[in-house]
Amino acid sequence: MSAEFDVVVLGGGAAGLFAATEAARRGASVLLLERNKKPGVKVLASGGSRCNVTSVLPVHVMARHFGKSAGRFLGHAFKTLPPTAIVSLLHELGVETYEEKFDKVFPKSNKATDVLAAFLRRFEAAGARMRCESRIEVVQRQDDGTFVVHAGADRLSAKSVVLAVGGKSYPGTGSTGDGYAIAARFGHTIVTPRPALVPLRVDEEWVKSLTGIAFQDVAVRLVDASGTELARRRRPLLFTHFGLSGPAAMDVSREVSTREEPTTLVVDFLPDLTAQELERELDRSIEVMPTHALSNAIEGEFPQRFLDVLFATRGVRGAQRCAEVSRAHRRIVVELLKGTRIPIAGTQDFTRAEVTAGGVALDEVDPATMESRRVPGFYVCGEVLDVDGPIGGFNFQAAFSTGHVAGASAATR
Ligand SMILES: Cc1cc2nc3c(=O)[nH]c(=O)nc-3n(C[C@H](O)[C@H](O)[C@H](O)COP(=O)(O)OP(=O)(O)OC[C@H]3O[C@@H](n4cnc5c(N)ncnc54)[C@H](O)[C@@H]3O)c2cc1C
Repeated sequence: MSAEFDVVVLGGGAAGLFAATEAARRGASVLLLERNKKPGVKVLASGGSRCNVTSVLPVHVMARHFGKSAGRFLGHAFKTLPPTAIVSLLHELGVETYEEKFDKVFPKSNKATDVLAAFLRRFEAAGARMRCESRIEVVQRQDDGTFVVHAGADRLSAKSVVLAVGGKSYPGTGSTGDGYAIAARFGHTIVTPRPALVPLRVDEEWVKSLTGIAFQDVAVRLVDASGTELARRRRPLLFTHFGLSGPAAMDVSREVSTREEPTTLVVDFLPDLTAQELERELDRSIEVMPTHALSNAIEGEFPQRFLDVLFATRGVRGAQRCAEVSRAHRRIVVELLKGTRIPIAGTQDFTRAEVTAGGVALDEVDPATMESRRVPGFYVCGEVLDVDGPIGGFNFQAAFSTGHVAGASAATR
């Protein structure tokens, strides 16, 4: 049987758009199938609709942030289509970019719509075609090695298929985990999907009482019951009515959701000072302000409400006069500001998770081509794979790079 298309790409997110474009650029006849009315919903929702498109970090540093095995897996794809190539490509397409704090790259217009429009222009210029409102249910491999893709009443045949349907986070955007069943049918192992880049749940009432208080620069360490460090990050942190959010909390969340044992977040609210320096500064402030309340004498930009609540967790009154603060209480204040321990109850669910940890097992996919090691002609890319990185443009870069490699390989098969 001769196939209708050289390549059918399943899913019109970042990975699918890059896969289809690259396959078409190489001369393949390409059809992309997307279940939504329009492609790229997550691109539009990303970075607060500003789209943190990639990072300025070197590729080996970016890869390291995905953990050992995913980092190794992504190495080739990152070298083939590095962050610098994404920036150049956007410039060529008329989208200027700029670098923000924490190595993040955004479009100068701060509009995710500009980024998506540029990618779609490139997709069209390459000659790829797209069919929206087409939800893929099943993919079958024929005896002759071609594939049949079932989408509603449609049956589409292809020489190669690229699976780019994403994970199961933010299901309202279209990614509801359909890819796992499709890949599992072909014998792939699915590493249990768990929410990642997701806010943390905390049961402590004092934490919830601080809803709305945010810090721009705290250092957090996630530890297990034995004190072993599982993750660390220095980023903004936000207290919410359910616990903790902001990049510091979300970046360590995969370590919470991927293990059963209880974890604790140790928060250093003054990461630029050592405990000794803080104690000396506290002593000095107390000395020059003997009649002030303790919480007024603390160095830094802390809201009074925060200090009063935090100190109360260890029986220290923020309202007591400095002259009356005992040495023991000063030590407690230092301990709290340099390492408050917050027991973590879990994470929020997939509806609030920016990415999915887990997915198609990496040792069953060739990192040089993204081709399945189980089924020749079946390619897997983007978030449906068992890859997830921190906040900062890492996840789009993984989707672009793996999508690009999958499309290039599928076209030349
Ligand atoms: C709110 C939010 C903000 C984010 N901000 C950033 C950011 O600023 N920077 C960053 O790097 N990352 C960000 N991310 C993560 C990033 O969006 C994802 O990692 C990335 O989009 C994954 O790309 P993908 O193409 O693999 O999957 P997706 O973007 O999920 O695309 C998959 C596509 O497949 C379609 N699909 C699913 N099932 C089917 C089916 N059965 N049939 C047909 N089509 C199907 C979906 O509708 C979707 O269009 C954010 C995520 C969220 C939720």
